[in-house]
Amino acid sequence: MRAWRVESHGGREALKQIEIPKPEPRAGEVRVRVAATGLNHLDLWVRKGVPGHQFPLPLTLGTDSSGTIESFGPGDTERLVPSLKIGSRVLVSPGISCGHCEACLSGFDPLCPHYGILGETCDGGLAEFIVVPYANLIPIPDSISFEEAAALPIPFLTAWTMVFRKIQLKAGETILIHAGGSGVSAAAIQIAKMTGATVITTIGKRENDARVRALGADHVIFYREESFREGLKRILKPLGKKGVEAVIDHVGQDTFADSVKSLAWGGRLACCGATSGSSVEIDLKVLFFKNIALHGATMGSKADLIRIVQLVAEKKLNPVIDTVLSFEELPDGLERIENRQVFGKLIIQGQK
Ligand SMILES: [Zn+2]
Repeated sequence: MRAWRVESHGGREALKQIEIPKPEPRAGEVRVRVAATGLNHLDLWVRKGVPGHQFPLPLTLGTDSSGTIESFGPGDTERLVPSLKIGSRVLVSPGISCGHCEACLSGFDPLCPHYGILGETCDGGLAEFIVVPYANLIPIPDSISFEEAAALPIPFLTAWTMVFRKIQLKAGETILIHAGGSGVSAAAIQIAKMTGATVITTIGKRENDARVRALGADHVIFYREESFREGLKRILKPLGKKGVEAVIDHVGQDTFADSVKSLAWGGRLACCGATSGSSVEIDLKVLFFKNIALHGATMGSKADLIRIVQLVAEKKLNPVIDTVLSFEELPDGLERIENRQVFGKLIIQGQK
């Protein structure tokens, strides 16, 4: 089968479409014919490499995939869930964990000592087929397209973890969500809005103003025209607030220190990435005097992804898709992510 592989890190040339053997499912595993895969910043990190971090190269890219069940491992045909049989439409939950430890059994599998992510710690879905544990399959109803399903896992799961499990946002609070056009923030705006909070977001281009407002943003700051600190002052003054109760920041170096300063007393900040760099300086006095909490987050519980799929089926959450690209267009897609020329998600179709 053909697959998009990274054998050594680098630029566009590091992405190689090559022929590899079709993977065989073992007992407890399932082979899925991939119909669509959502691209993430993670795919770019795998291509470029991360200083001080070792990816298990060569590696097939692709974390968020959907498709149809093609075959089961030996002795495992249609054994547990009647809705999961050959040909069933499924979303592949990207977190792989042991299933036996305290973290797994208590429902927050990202803390499993054996936790891994498809396309990062093992082969992902940018191939004709992917083999995953049975437990990683989530059935999807016909009302959710393969492309929509593939737009969900990393952005929605991470946003869900930050808003509900970490920040625990409440109705009446105000949250600042940086980079509203990014996949995770477009998900976070919708999820934060569900709580009844006031949502403020930042974007670079005025042309995306209506799009973030349609997702649920109450206030928009154009960070190329005014600093977000100035924008917040302008927005918060009529609300009688001096700071926001919550911030979601995955920009990192360029924004983090000011994000911490923007928090109200008792404020909470969640960070799920650092696209502008990860070295930051914060004044600890601000942290303890103002009783501020800083949370790190990556991915989320398999159970939460099931809930997200249900809410998408009910049209209460909406996948945000910029463009659907062909399998061959992967290198162009990653360049667009690198150059921040995307609103929401880019989806790569399976092979024709
Ligand atoms: Zn575990």
